[in-house]
Amino acid sequence: MPVTLPSIFLKRREERRISAGHPWVFSNEVDVSRSPLATFAPGSFANVQGHSGQPLGTAYVNPATLICARLVSRRPDRPLNATVVRERIARALALRERMAVGPYYRLVYGESDDLPGLVVDRFHDTVSLQIGTAGMEALTDDVVNALDALIAPRAVVLRNDGAGRRLEGLEESVQWLRGDSSHTAEVHENGARFSVSPGSGQKTGWFYDHRLNRARVAAWAAGASVLDLFSYRGGFGVQAALAGAREVLCVDSSEEGLSGAAEAAARNGCAERVACLRGDAFEVLRELHAEGRRFDLVIADPPAFARRKRDLPAAREAYQRLNRLAMRVLVEDGLLFSASCSSHMDADALRGALRGAARGAARRIVLLEQGHQGPDHPVHPMLTESAYLKGFLVRAST
Ligand code: SAH
Repeated sequence: MPVTLPSIFLKRREERRISAGHPWVFSNEVDVSRSPLATFAPGSFANVQGHSGQPLGTAYVNPATLICARLVSRRPDRPLNATVVRERIARALALRERMAVGPYYRLVYGESDDLPGLVVDRFHDTVSLQIGTAGMEALTDDVVNALDALIAPRAVVLRNDGAGRRLEGLEESVQWLRGDSSHTAEVHENGARFSVSPGSGQKTGWFYDHRLNRARVAAWAAGASVLDLFSYRGGFGVQAALAGAREVLCVDSSEEGLSGAAEAAARNGCAERVACLRGDAFEVLRELHAEGRRFDLVIADPPAFARRKRDLPAAREAYQRLNRLAMRVLVEDGLLFSASCSSHMDADALRGALRGAARGAARRIVLLEQGHQGPDHPVHPMLTESAYLKGFLVRAST
C-alpha cells in the first residue's frame, strides 16, 4: 500500500552532506518553523526534504535526540516495514555466508547494513540483538520474525542494556525472547572454540570484530611467551596458544572474562600453557616489569578510552602510557599488537601514541601490520565512526 509520509524540511544548504551519502540529520539542520520536530512521534517515519523541497529520502525520527532522523532509504515514502527489514537482513546474511567462516559473525551492523540502530551477533542457533534507537525499537517484532524466517534461532536475547539507549529515551534491559538467562552458546573462530554467555557477557557476549586480528597475531605466536592484556575470554591468548605459543598469560579485571578464558583454554586442550591473572592491566604491567618478566609478544586491547570526542586528549595519554608500559615488558625485538576501539582515536592518533610510547620506553619501533575490524562489520563510507577498530603490530628494539 503506498504511503505518504509527513516531511522534515532542512534549512538552506543543510542538504549537502546528506546528498553526498551521509545517513543522519542533526536537529540543528532542521527548519523547525516549517516542520516542527515535536509533531513527530519517536520512531515514526518522515520524508526528508531540502530547503527548496528536493527529496532526500525516508528517515525514522526521534525528536528528542541530536541525531533526529536516520535515513532508511534514498527515495521518499519508503519506510522500513516487515518486508523491507526481512530483505535487508537476508542481504546481510548473504554477505556473511560469503565469508565462509560458519554461522559465527556479526550478522547486522547498523547503517552499514541499511538497518540503523540494529546490531545482531550470531552464535549458530543463538542470536544477541542490540537495539539502539526508537525507530528500530518499533520494528523489534519485524526483526525477530525475519530472523525466525531466515535462520530459525533457538535462543534470542535482546541486549538492550547499552548506555546509548538513554539518549533515545529508551529503557535499558536484557530480555530473552527465546530461551532463558542460563543459555550459553559456542563461538568457533579461527579453529578455536569459546563458550559465551550472550545474556550476561560484555556487549553481545563476544567481540567478533577482532577475528582477523586474532588470526594475524596468532600467526606470530609459535614458540612465543605471550601476554594478553584486556584478554576478556582469551580471544587472542587462547588462539595464540593453539598456534603454538609456549606460554600465555591472560590479564583482565573481569572475573567473568577470565573464567571464560580459563574455560576456553581447557576446551581447546591448552590449559597447561594458559594462565590467568585478575587485575588492572596498568598495575600488572608495572609489577611484571619490576619482577623482570619479559614476553615475546604482548597484546593490548583495552576498552575505549575515548568514548566522547572531548575525552580524546586524556585518551591519547592513556594509550601512550599503556603502550609504553607494554613495551617495557617486551624482550629485545619483541612484538606488540596494540589496538584501539575508540572511533575518535583514529589510526594516526594510535600511531602517534605508539611513537610517544616508544620514546618514553626508549625503544625503536617499526610497524609490521595494520589490523582493522573484519568484514562482518562493514564500514559505511560516510560514517567515520563505523570504522572504529584499528590495531598495529610493531616490533620494538632498544
Ligand atoms: N581482547 C578481548 C576484548 C577486550 S574488551 C577479546 O579479544 O575478546 C576489554 C576488556 O578489558 C574487558 O574484558 C574488560 O573487562 C577489560 N578491562 C577494562 N578495564 C581494565 C583494566 N583497567 N585492566 C584490565 N582489564 C580491564
